[in-house]
Amino acid sequence: SAEEAAAKAAAHLADTEPATIFDKIVSKEIPANVIYEDDEALAFRDISPQAPVHFLVIPKKRNGLTRLSKATPEHKALLGHLLYVAQLVAMKENLGEGFRVCINDGPNGCQSVYHLHLHVMGGRQLTWPPG
Ligand code: AMP
Repeated sequence: SAEEAAAKAAAHLADTEPATIFDKIVSKEIPANVIYEDDEALAFRDISPQAPVHFLVIPKKRNGLTRLSKATPEHKALLGHLLYVAQLVAMKENLGEGFRVCINDGPNGCQSVYHLHLHVMGGRQLTWPPG
């Protein structure tokens, strides 16, 4: 039934993992240097910047996206929106000469906060490959 399908979709997105510090930034319980906000996304400066400009773009509701590899088809629109916001804020931050967007996934990716986030870095000549 349609009801069963809806319940299945909701279970798919259920988020049973512990909350992270990013939820407290979204709820303004802890301060952050917020540079962009809309209904779905928040961008704020990284507390430990790796470039002259380094900010994070996160979904306000984690919705099961502890990490990129948890993405399901239901997340596609949100993932596209986060990437769109990344370049929007990069342009606001005068990164027209170029920048880097990066997502760390899991232990090998050096992920430390399990609430999906895009790193956006720029303001200097970046090097490749990363470490
Ligand atoms: P990752 O290692 O990819 O999970 O990235 C987590 C990022 O969050 C790191 O670059 C941290 O510096 C950053 N971070 C952690 N706590 C805060 C905070 N309270 N405000 C801003 N950035 C933070």
